[in-house]
Amino acid sequence: MRVVLADVRSSSGGWVSKDTVVGGYGSRLEPFSRVTRVISFLKQHYHNVPSVHMAYLAAILAQWGHEVRWSRGEVVEGDVALVLSSLVDYRNETAWADAMRARGARVGFVGITASKLPELFRDHADFLINGEPESAVQRLAQGEVLSGVVASEPIADLDSLPFPRWDLIRDERRPGRASRWSSRPIGGGFPLLASRGCPEFCTYCPHRILAGYRARSIANIADELEQLCERQRQPYVIFRDPLFTEQRDRMLELCDAIQARGLSLTFEAETRLDRLDPELLDRLYAAGFRAMSFGVESVSPATLKRSGRRPIPETHQRAIMEHCRKRGIFTAAFYVLGFLQDDWQSVAATIDYAVDLGSTFAQFKILTPYPGTPMFKQLQPLLSETDWQKFDGFTPTFRHPNLSDRELRFLLGAAYTRFYMRPSYVANLLKVQNASVRRWVGRLDRKVLDRHARQETVDMSRPVTC
Ligand code: SF4
Repeated sequence: MRVVLADVRSSSGGWVSKDTVVGGYGSRLEPFSRVTRVISFLKQHYHNVPSVHMAYLAAILAQWGHEVRWSRGEVVEGDVALVLSSLVDYRNETAWADAMRARGARVGFVGITASKLPELFRDHADFLINGEPESAVQRLAQGEVLSGVVASEPIADLDSLPFPRWDLIRDERRPGRASRWSSRPIGGGFPLLASRGCPEFCTYCPHRILAGYRARSIANIADELEQLCERQRQPYVIFRDPLFTEQRDRMLELCDAIQARGLSLTFEAETRLDRLDPELLDRLYAAGFRAMSFGVESVSPATLKRSGRRPIPETHQRAIMEHCRKRGIFTAAFYVLGFLQDDWQSVAATIDYAVDLGSTFAQFKILTPYPGTPMFKQLQPLLSETDWQKFDGFTPTFRHPNLSDRELRFLLGAAYTRFYMRPSYVANLLKVQNASVRRWVGRLDRKVLDRHARQETVDMSRPVTC
């Protein structure tokens, strides 16, 4: 059987990322200011990462002797096509599916969006896989004709899966070029899933709603890393686990395995700061850890608790950041603006905290209720946006009790400007440690922030033109 795997490249505006981003719903950054234009441009170079889920499906199909073809939106001859679904770009994906069906292929959708919002895809598909797709695709590979909504049980033993086949889906990939401004090489990086799901309970998070938390054995992960090292000299690995350092002992074991096997690689991961301590960071660094991302979300512990998120003491957050700075580990912090309890002051406090915490990078998004999450149920009566593609993380989608859409958009723009347009941001990027230089930079920061405040007052008092 010829099976076409498709991760359809978005043809609409902005920077679109799918696969493991927002649990698979994806995000779309349409630049709305000078700062976000630069960020969107940089993301196209550094965040253009291939789909690990499709690489797994390629491996399963090849294991059963099927011919795998790859598409980023080109119409390709095949008997069956599997399309990676997303929320932010689903119209583009269904248009591709229609074109493939017109050529006689049976088309199915995989991913969280097709699982949670089948109505968006039903009229464009022969089957929709509901759940993590591997077990249903194993059945397809063994000859079952899939039809309608197909339940797919999560694989309990992740070690039983073959390793992702990058050779089958990475035709345009080349080894990335290293850059001083980011641990990620330009255009390079292999995503890897050492575990799936998340054991935490944040009610807004889609990462935990498709299947429960499971982890691979360290030997199995190390085997995959070894294979990547054979494929490419000093590969850069992007662990896409929602909570990479959940089990400290496992992490130490992984560090030992990387060093014992003499693997020369660098890697990044996403985690919670309370799942890190200086000793663990040192061990990870020695094994090649060079960048991490983590959620802070809001500075208010009460707001976090109302969303099921366990707050992390500020002292711990600051200590971990300090240690990362000393080690030269890049850090990217995530913030969410517009929790139900938020008002102008609390969002401003979160932005101030982001600046003060001083991660290398920061990402600000507007609270978005994603289908299937407890937060979605809670906010459903307040939904104001009817176009699912606008659930992109940067667009207000529900009537906020304390903030208008205009205010939320304004605060989002101010967050990016305040974070990135200040002297200490450049100092952090250049890893400046000298205390007197940092004091001088701090004084400059205050002047720049005063200027931002004056500009923001002018911007906010402009009449609304649309
Ligand atoms: S810790 Fe992160 S990945 Fe886990 S549920 Fe919370 S937001 Fe989601």
